[in-house]
Amino acid sequence: MMKALVYGGPGQRAWQSKPKPIVRDPGDAVVRITTSTICGTDLHILKGDVPTVTPGRILGHEGVGVIEAVGPLVSTFRAGDRVLISCISACGICDVCRKGMYSHCRTGGWILGNTIDGTQAEYVRTPHADTSLYHLPPDADEEAMVMLSDILPTGFECGVLNGKVEPGDTVAIVGAGPIGLAALLTAQFYSPAAILMIDLDDNRLRVAEQFGATALINSSQGTAVDQVMALTGGAGVDVAIEAVGVPTTFDICQAILAPGGRLANVGVHGKPVELHLEKLWDRNIAITTRLVDTAAIPMLLKLVRSGKLQPAKLVTHRFAIGDIMKAYDTFGNAAQERALKVILTNP
Ligand SMILES: [Zn+2]
Ligand SMILES: [Zn+2]
Repeated sequence: MMKALVYGGPGQRAWQSKPKPIVRDPGDAVVRITTSTICGTDLHILKGDVPTVTPGRILGHEGVGVIEAVGPLVSTFRAGDRVLISCISACGICDVCRKGMYSHCRTGGWILGNTIDGTQAEYVRTPHADTSLYHLPPDADEEAMVMLSDILPTGFECGVLNGKVEPGDTVAIVGAGPIGLAALLTAQFYSPAAILMIDLDDNRLRVAEQFGATALINSSQGTAVDQVMALTGGAGVDVAIEAVGVPTTFDICQAILAPGGRLANVGVHGKPVELHLEKLWDRNIAITTRLVDTAAIPMLLKLVRSGKLQPAKLVTHRFAIGDIMKAYDTFGNAAQERALKVILTNP
């Protein structure tokens, strides 16, 4: 047996005993988790927003660990290897994977902590191990590495790449939580001229300033659009990255786009939004959506190793994995607790 964080239905979670996972399919690995974390998506699940997650499921889709066992078809990993677990499991050979859209793999995608048991546990079974795990560099800082399971690739692929950030662009990021900050860190690879950070919380905005935001906009008074227009001389922004997932923040994004602008949606939306085509139809804009493919993990690993990307800056709280119930309380009260990412360790 092992201990794991188990979803019990909306509003219900418990740290309880579950059977230790075993290799089931020949491409599986079983990983002993050494570092994990909690994602905003886990909070959505606990609110009951993600119907594919059923009671009894072990949550978590981010993690670093040591391989315990591998199935007979796994060729690149063996017991004892330290690995980074991608939040996306991908077979690498189905038609969708061959298009590079691993998030929609026919037999994978976002399944960990969703349709199969996840990483907020002492052990996890990872399907398609060869194409879903990454060897950790020998000197790897696990806190930095676990940020590459989901939030760094998500901010980068869904926000920065889909938004086509170019040198000299004016970029607005709506939402200064971990994903928005990940977009902020990785947008700077492309030398935008200005990055405007928009959030309700002054503490998060101050963090964004330390991470490279050039202007901070508190949207709590409902004047974010006016402030962006004033700051850009009425022009609007080249790229608006939506990193929250509610109608208000999507509305801000569509109202601040310059002609030719790109609106890159990252947020997980639970409600419909009103699309203002009566204002946008002639403005040459593009709106993109995406689930992270984590195809950028190898590139991000290199940038972390070189020190050009420092994702461990996102870590604000640390808990032993046995204290995960307390960690959820802290993360669920992020504004009051000034929490960004909480680290869970299983030494
Ligand atoms: Zn996540
Ligand atoms: Zn596939």
